[in-house]
Formats: sequence, structure tokens, C-alpha cells
Amino acid sequence: MKVIIIGAGVGGSCLAHGLLRSGIEVKVFERNARDLLELPGYGIHINPFGQQALYECLPKANWRTFLQKSVRVGGQNRFFDEKLRILADVRGSHLIDGKLIDESLMSISRVELHRILLQGLSHVGVPADIVSWGKVFDRYEVRADGKVGVSFQDGTQETTDVLVGADGSDSLVRKQLLPGVEKVSTKVSLIVGRTHLGWADSLPGIMLDGSPNTVVSRATGSMFLALSRAPVDIKVPSIEVEVAPFVVWAYTVADGTLPPDVEVYSSRQLLDLALERSQHLHGRLWVTMSNSELESVFLVPLKAMPEPPLWDSSVVTLIGNAVRNTTPVFGIGANAALRDAQLLCRSLLTVAKGRGNLTQAISKYEREMRLYASEDVMQSLLIPKKRRQPFSLPATPFLHSVHDRRGIS
Ligand SMILES: Cc1cc2nc3c(=O)[nH]c(=O)nc-3n(C[C@H](O)[C@H](O)[C@H](O)COP(=O)(O)OP(=O)(O)OC[C@H]3O[C@@H](n4cnc5c(N)ncnc54)[C@H](O)[C@@H]3O)c2cc1C
Repeated sequence: MKVIIIGAGVGGSCLAHGLLRSGIEVKVFERNARDLLELPGYGIHINPFGQQALYECLPKANWRTFLQKSVRVGGQNRFFDEKLRILADVRGSHLIDGKLIDESLMSISRVELHRILLQGLSHVGVPADIVSWGKVFDRYEVRADGKVGVSFQDGTQETTDVLVGADGSDSLVRKQLLPGVEKVSTKVSLIVGRTHLGWADSLPGIMLDGSPNTVVSRATGSMFLALSRAPVDIKVPSIEVEVAPFVVWAYTVADGTLPPDVEVYSSRQLLDLALERSQHLHGRLWVTMSNSELESVFLVPLKAMPEPPLWDSSVVTLIGNAVRNTTPVFGIGANAALRDAQLLCRSLLTVAKGRGNLTQAISKYEREMRLYASEDVMQSLLIPKKRRQPFSLPATPFLHSVHDRRGIS
């Protein structure tokens, strides 16, 4: 069996490891050049589903590096009022493989997670990498013999038994497999920034243990805050700025209240806007925001996709943000991508062991994934909905006869 994965992001690289460990032939195609990482300077929280997927799919050496480089921050999500009085300390638990597991987050820099995921897949100077860099997927075609032809923008082609779109929220694989299923605006945006710990240490210690904190407000705008540990051995020159622990903050704003030209605002203008809107918050939050590194401040319009629709399973499938686009609220996206990778890997392994066929295995993965993907989308919309913006996601369609649209030859 041969599997082609489009995208060497969180889900795609985890899946590649899982399949390789089981002796399945894998090729990954990534549009970016090696070592080019978007959003390098932010931390990420890995929940028990993400941890379980990494443990099961990654080689032991990569898993050990993950344990060394991440910090266990407990399972608490804390909520504060505007005066920084604690309102709630929420600890969840999850049912994983029939066992109830307490929520326990591990915080890691995105740069380090990216490196750990690529360790063993891509080596500088090795021509026959598992990952082919700078290859932009264009389209696919399911052929009469059941194989999938995959075309790239540079005019080259590959053939595979299974094609996995792990190409993120603007997935081109999805656009072909599920035409019309697109992200919609939630009418809420985040202004995001980061502040070195030295400028944020007046915050209560309880906010600086790495856990996610949310400051809720009766007035406009709530705020998310978490401390992230910096990577210890950064070598890539463009990201050397990330040398000390920092606090990441994100302030929510209703789009209808934003200036019409906000998309062309400079970082300075965005920070001033966030400071002006957050005057009702505790002064220590205000001081933390006002000392942000200017280059780190940017606007993130929150978009989401409706819960994954039903479609006829085939040998082309999707994982991660390609199949459900959650808002960054509650840190769901990367964990969901890892969980999908683990589940799809398990399903494909049954075929490699001679049980069932590929379409049945992919159908099983898609059925199970849809169950938790719908919850992921709804949970990620909690904060935008609290901002009382009148938005709704389109109804989930049933995409039948997709074979016609995929153009089986
Ligand atoms: C500020 C911020 C903070 C976040 N914090 C968290 C957090 O704490 N916890 C959490 O769980 N999630 C978090 N997320 C969300 C998380 O980063 C994403 O959900 C996650 O990266 C999705 O993984 P993925 O594998 O689906 O896609 P990605 O990781 O986006 O990977 C997709 C890959 O596909 C490649 N690609 C795209 N198109 C093509 C093409 N045509 N051809 C070839 N390659 C292509 C891209 O270059 C990319 O490398 C955060 C997001 C943001 C913006």
C-alpha cells in the first residue's frame, strides 16, 4: 500500500510517522520550503488526545524529545473576572480507548513541536526524504483501476493507493472532494500579541504556570492569556528572537465594532486599538499588553467550517483543519489533527494486515472522526457566540454522487 499525504503540518507529519512505523510506504508533499514555519513565536497546548496520538505514532526517540521539550501544565483552564478575581478552575476528563483520562495539558513551543514531528522524516542534505519540499498540490483524479493520480503545480505527477489531504484550512484537496464546503466568518476577530515574561511578571503567579487563562468581561472583549516556555536551542536565524519565556495574549473584538480599514492597520495601530478597548480590564493586563513586542501583534479573523458533512467514502480523505476548521479558541485544532492522524493510521493498518479494503477502512475513520469533529467545531465557537454576534454556520449538506465531481476516468 502507498499513501500520499499533502501537507507536512501537525497532522500530516504525525500520520506519516505512524504509517512508516508499520512499514507502509509514505510520501509527503509540502508547499513550503524546509524550515519555513508560519507563526513561529507561539506556544501550543497538547491535550491527552494529542499526547496519545504522538505516543502511538512517533518513533520512541521523537516521543522522548517531546517529553524533554514540553512542560506539563496540569489540566486546568482558569477563568477570571475583569479585576483578576478567579471565577472558575475547570478541569475536564476524556474517554480515550475506553478509559477516563484526566485533562492534562503539555505546553510546547510550535517551533519545537514542528522539529520533533519532522525528526526522522526530513534530513538536511538527504535527497530521498519522505517529505518533498516546495511541492504545491494542484488536483487529483481517481482512475478506473482505483489508483489516485496526483498533480502538482510544477507539472509533475504521482500515483498512489490513498491520498490524504492534510493541507490545512484552505485545503485544495477538500475543495475538490467537498466542493462548496468552506470556512465562514464568525464576525469576531482576535488581536494577538506576546510579551516577554519580564514585562508580565506583575500578573498573579497563578496566571503564569503555563495553563490557559480566560478573562471574561461584561463589557466588550474577553482576553486569553498563557505563559509559553521558549525553546532552548533555537538555531534558525529568523526565529532567534524566541529566546525567553513569554506571555501570549489574545483579545476578542466583534468585527462590527472594528474600523473599516483595520486590515491594513500596522502592528502599532492594532496594539493601540486593543489597549483602547481593554481599559476596563485590570491594570496589570493593560501593562502586559502595552509592553508587547510590536512585531508580534496581528489580527486573526475567526473563521469556522460547519461540522463535517456526510460524503461517499473513497480512497481520498482529509484530516485536521482540512476537514474541520475550528477557531484557535480553546486550542483544539492541532490536537484534533493529531487525533485524526492516529485514527486514520489505525484504520489503514487493518488493511495492511489483510483485513477489509481501503474504502471500508477510510469510511470507518470518517464515521468516527465526524463524531468528535462536530463537538470540536461547536466548542471552538463558544467564545464567538458569547460575543453575541448574529452569525450561524450553514446547514451540513449530504454530498452524494461525489464520484461524478471527482471525475473518475
Ligand atoms: C495563534 C494560534 C494559536 C494556536 N494555538 C493552538 C493550541 O494551543 N492548541 C491547538 O490544538 N491548536 C492551536 N492552534 C491551531 C493549530 O495550529 C492548527 O489547528 C493546526 O496546525 C492544524 O493542523 P493541520 O495538520 O490540519 O494543518 P497545518 O498544521 O496548518 O498544516 C497544513 C500544511 O499543509 C501545507 N499545504 C497547504 N496547502 C498545500 C498545498 N496546496 N500543497 C502542499 N502543501 C500544502 C501547509 O503549508 C502546511 O504545512 C492555534 C492556531 C493559531 C493561529
